[in-house]
Amino acid sequence: MGCRIRRLSVLVLAISMLALSGPAVLADGPITTIASTTTSEFPQALVFQLTAASSAADIVKVELRFKLRGDASTEVARPEFTPGRRIEATYRWKTDKTQIPPGAPVEFRWVITDGAGNTLTTDQQTAIYDDLRFPWKHLQNDEIAFYWYEGSDEFGQTVFDVAARSLVRISTDIGAKVKYPIRIYAYANQEDFRSAFPSLGNTYQWIGGQAFVEQAITVQILPDEGEDTSWIRDVIPHEISHLVFHQATDHPLADPPTWLNEGLAQHNEEGDLAYLEAMVRAAARSGKLFPLKMLSGSFFNDPEKTYLAYAESYSAVQYIFRTYGREGMARLIAAFGAGKMREAAFQEALGISLDELDRDWQRSVGATPATATPVLTPTATPDRPWLNPTLPPWAQKGTGTPVTATPTRPPASQTPPPTPRSAETPVPAPASTVPLWPAVVGGGLCCASVALAVIFLIGLVWWIRRPS
Ligand SMILES: [Zn+2]
Repeated sequence: MGCRIRRLSVLVLAISMLALSGPAVLADGPITTIASTTTSEFPQALVFQLTAASSAADIVKVELRFKLRGDASTEVARPEFTPGRRIEATYRWKTDKTQIPPGAPVEFRWVITDGAGNTLTTDQQTAIYDDLRFPWKHLQNDEIAFYWYEGSDEFGQTVFDVAARSLVRISTDIGAKVKYPIRIYAYANQEDFRSAFPSLGNTYQWIGGQAFVEQAITVQILPDEGEDTSWIRDVIPHEISHLVFHQATDHPLADPPTWLNEGLAQHNEEGDLAYLEAMVRAAARSGKLFPLKMLSGSFFNDPEKTYLAYAESYSAVQYIFRTYGREGMARLIAAFGAGKMREAAFQEALGISLDELDRDWQRSVGATPATATPVLTPTATPDRPWLNPTLPPWAQKGTGTPVTATPTRPPASQTPPPTPRSAETPVPAPASTVPLWPAVVGGGLCCASVALAVIFLIGLVWWIRRPS
């Protein structure tokens, strides 16, 4: 694997960051850049500094163009400076109102103009927005890096090993290699995690982690728990699958369905998920399956439905692997990566429509004509007697009692409660667990690790209450 361990002090990190943002190229024209550096004040601000000179006239205009890698639009900022033959410009990009992960790559360049009409646009530089408040250690190979600051070297090695092998596994399974190296940051507790995202406030105190797919970074609350590595072996491969999936299917026209993304993420976990298949078969028997079409976008706000949605996603992905092999899955992922729309991608990769796949998969989990959920528009074909355009009542109103357990909290054994605060700064209790769901499940936060936690909890409840 060729991996190596490095202990990084804050100083080394700072130096490496400066090196990355080293001086821009000297120009042939009258305007020259003498120094271009950045300083991280994560999570409050990233400070850009430029020293430049012009031999022709006073420098009268300086622009900073920058963006997070993966963002579509570039921001244009006007740094403060005093016009002159030699200038020093500073721009402080305040980030405390946004959510930017530690280690985010920020691409930037300067556009410098003097009074004689000369303009210099510098080469693109990349600053790494490090969280210098913690003494990070890290392990890395060419494709993946794991950062942590609390816990033993053994803990770091365990997480890194799980991450590295799960990256190989998912890359092989979907036939895609990462374009950008993946980075995993582990905060040791909820307090530290939340301090990295000040804009989250107290509302998100139940979040266990967050994936930033555009930046190929996942940030997790991951304490060193010694022998117990079950959470690591699920959450790390799950998140890595999302990051790889995003890179492999990232195209402005592609619209891969959520069930495919979430199904692959669970497929990549190392725990035994056979119970999910059992749950799907039980739902098929009682006519409660959601057609895959209903699982294309955001999942439901109802925990119980969401749990079934995750289970079905896993089951459908397993079905594709069983029926079409890794080659079929690789063709499907490649089709999305090439910008194929959903229907065209399935047709091209698997030779069937999405509706046909849905029907075949439902049959494979034991749905009968009487219990299968309609997936096709009615055609009155006699050999498809179960076709029925009416949405069944359970899909309209939802079934079952909402789980009363806090849905988004990772299992207590894995994520310790927040450190008690002083009396002056009490932590307000969450008003309700329900409003978190639209934010977490439907709000584009992807599942992060909350979904995994939810699956454990609701799975337990379902298992206990399952029909005999
Ligand atoms: Zn997920």
